[in-house]
Formats: sequence, C-alpha cells, structure tokens
Amino acid sequence: MRPRSVGAPDSSPSFPNAPLVTELLLLDDDPLQLKLLARALNGLGYHDVVGCTTAAVALDALNAPERTIGLIFLDLNMPDVDGVAFLRLLAESHRSIPVVLVSGEDERLVETAARLGASHQLTVLGTLPKPVWPVELRALLARWESPAPAASGAPTAYAAGDVTRAVRHGELVNYYQPKVDLVTGTVAGVEALVRWRHPLHGDVLPGRFLGVVEEHGLISELTRVVIGAALSQADEWRQDGLQLSVAVNVSMDDLAQVDFADYVLAELERHGVPPSDLVLEVGEPRLARDPHAVMEVVSRLRLKRVTMSIDDFGTGHSSLAQVRDLPFNEVKIDGSFLHGAGSNATLAALFTASVDMARRIGMRTVAEGVEDSADWAWLRSRNCDQAQGFFLGRPMPADELRHWLAGWERRRRELFPA
Ligand code: C2E
Ligand code: MG
Ligand code: MG
Repeated sequence: MRPRSVGAPDSSPSFPNAPLVTELLLLDDDPLQLKLLARALNGLGYHDVVGCTTAAVALDALNAPERTIGLIFLDLNMPDVDGVAFLRLLAESHRSIPVVLVSGEDERLVETAARLGASHQLTVLGTLPKPVWPVELRALLARWESPAPAASGAPTAYAAGDVTRAVRHGELVNYYQPKVDLVTGTVAGVEALVRWRHPLHGDVLPGRFLGVVEEHGLISELTRVVIGAALSQADEWRQDGLQLSVAVNVSMDDLAQVDFADYVLAELERHGVPPSDLVLEVGEPRLARDPHAVMEVVSRLRLKRVTMSIDDFGTGHSSLAQVRDLPFNEVKIDGSFLHGAGSNATLAALFTASVDMARRIGMRTVAEGVEDSADWAWLRSRNCDQAQGFFLGRPMPADELRHWLAGWERRRRELFPA
C-alpha cells in the first residue's frame, strides 16, 4: 500500500515555522484518527501531510528519495509494530526527524515513551492527547523549526589535548546564575557554572566537555580552577558591598580526596570569604570509590559551616540514600520534577513529597529549572525555600550580574506583590 497524501501541497503556508518543502508524516493504525489529525493540520495551514496506517508503510515513505518528511506524528498503541518499537526503528535510520507522540494512553506511559525517544537521541517535540485540539497542535507546531545548520564548525566531541589546555591555561570562565529566596524575593546567592571560552567556538557549555574532563582525570583540576575563580569573584562582590553566597558544583571524586576539606577551607581563608557563604553541590550519578573519605570530607566541611547540597535530587544516585548516609543540609530538586508540575499530578506529588521530606529533617530546599510563569505560579505555594531557573535569570558572566540585579529589584515587585 502506498502512503496517502492527505490534502494538496500548498506553496504558501501561512505559518513561518513550516519549512516550504517539508512533509508531515502521520502514523496511526486508525484511519479515522488519521483523517481527524490531517484535517486539524490542514486547518492550521499544513497541507503536505502523508498518512500511514502501518509502520512498514511509514518506513517506506521515510526511505523514499522523493519524500521530504520533516516531522512525524506517531500513535503509540498500534498492532504489530507499536509506537515504542517504531521509535527504536527511527533512531536507527532517521534520527534527525523530530517526533510528536499522539496517544490516548495515560500521561505517565506517554511521558516514559517520550523519555525513551530522547534516550534514543531523537528529538521528541512534544506529546498530544487524543483527540487532538487545534490549540495544542498549534502551540506544538510553533516549536517546530527547520533543523539548525551545524553551529560554527564546533565538533560534537573535543579532543583530550584541547580540553587539558583549556583547564590548565585559563580558558575556563564561570557564569553565575541567581537563586532567589521564595519568601522575601531577595537574591539568595548564585551558582557558578563553568564555560570553556573557546578561541573559535565561543563559550562552550559544560555538557560538551565535562565528559572528556572526567575521562582524563582532570576533574579535580577543573574544580580547583572553578572554586578559585568563584571565591575571588565573591570577594570582589563583597568589596563592592554585595554579599552573595556562591555555589560550586563538585564531583564525588573531589569529595573522595581526604585533603579536599583542607583545600577548600584554605581557599576560603585566602579569599576572605566566610565558609557560610559557600555551597558545594554534588550531583554525581556515580558512587564514590572511597565512601569513608567522602563521609569525612562532607562532615568536616559541614562542621565549618559550608553548605553541602545534593544536586539534581530525585535523579540517578541523588537520592534518599545520600540523605541517609551523609550530612547534606540542602536539596536541589531536579528541574524535571518542577517543570510542568502544575498540570501533571505525578510530578506535583513527587516534588511536594521531596520538599516535605527535606523540611522534616531541616534541610534547605531549592527548586531548579523554574522555566516559565506556570512553573513560577505553581511553585509559589509549595513551601520551598529558594528558586533558580531561566524564568528568574539565566547563567551570565559576572559583569552582567550587576545589571541583572538592578532589573531584579523591579521584577521582584511584580513577582512578590505586597
Ligand atoms: P546543574 O548543577 O544542575 O546546573 C543547572 C543547569 O541547568 C545549568 O546547565 C543551567 O544552565 C541549567 N538551567 C538553569 N535554569 C534552567 C531552566 O530553567 N531550565 C533548564 N532547562 N535548564 C536550566 P549548565 O550550565 O549547562 O550545566 C550543566 C551541568 O554541568 C550542571 O548541572 C552541573 O552538573 C555541571 N557543571 C556545571 N559547572 C560545573 C563545574 O564547575 N564543575 C562540575 N563538576 N560540574 C559542573
Ligand atoms: Mg548544580
Ligand atoms: Mg541541578
């Protein structure tokens, strides 16, 4: 069976995001659902729609040289090859085409499928419940962009030699992202987030080079560069009349070195920063090789009033076992539990339970990933202590923070009405 073209090609699509020559592929075993979705898409100006009722036909369409499929709407529950299995097939041969999951199944199942797609390195643009509403469809399509051209020749992985040079020869810089007190609206502090000021590629995100740093045993050198810069910046701010606590991300390998506590305390002293103004965040999804050393280091730093924080709480090994075994006194609840919690009962329950747990044992709670006004509105009544996220302020170079702070005073009056 040939895939059916539903609707005639339109040479003047009314939506700027729809690339001119790109077709949408719909895969659903139910012809009625196909028709309804195609009609909704046509109504939004997308006429180049290819409907398929089986995975085999859809794969033929994807492989056909004359086709230019740029987006796939995938039903999850289908006989033979279902949507979950189809994601795997897509990952094998058509990874660059973004996917929308369309399903009447329960939200958690659909979200697991979306995460599975992402773990196959597919771009899952979003999920749509059935029946599909034009408003939701329009919002989702607004996010669809033609694939970005490869960024300024930057490679996907950096060579160990280049990364070593970056760490050792001053190519690392700290960005700082503000954290806000959820009761008073004051700026509670900043988190230092490392960037590689690459001579050709601009400021490179840590996700692009931290793996190489870890593989080549450079993490403790990187940590020392970041801590040194963060404390020197904190000192500069203090001299400028600005008292900000600074959080630095450290790895389990750092904490497993028995001399790490002494090193941190000496650096605090050298820069004249009180230990209570330093937060060390640990979010390693990996267990320490030497748990005794970690216990000693964390305990000693706590005794000196350094805040010890569990980062990305709720994911990987950032879990209850860490709370049980080590004297952490702050929890940063991973953004994946907050973002969307206002409309997702599972996320809401997990987030609230994490805050309750932490409060009961006297830990400070920080919500990560406050991305939009919906996250903010929902978070306001959650009893959480601090918030951090793009909605409040993005990570920025130190010299931009002054400007942000001035703007924050105005914004604070809006977000914290008296
Ligand atoms: P993290 O410590 O959990 O830091 C938060 C990350 O989330 C940052 O990404 C930040 O830019 C991003 N973020 C902040 N607000 C939002 C939001 O509203 N939405 C979303 N989607 N993301 C948000 P970044 O800077 O790319 O850092 C990624 C991770 O790299 C950090 O996660 C941390 O684990 C690691 N990292 C960063 N700097 C260092 C460092 O100096 N040392 C070590 N060991 N790890 C670092
Ligand atoms: Mg962190
Ligand atoms: Mg985090």
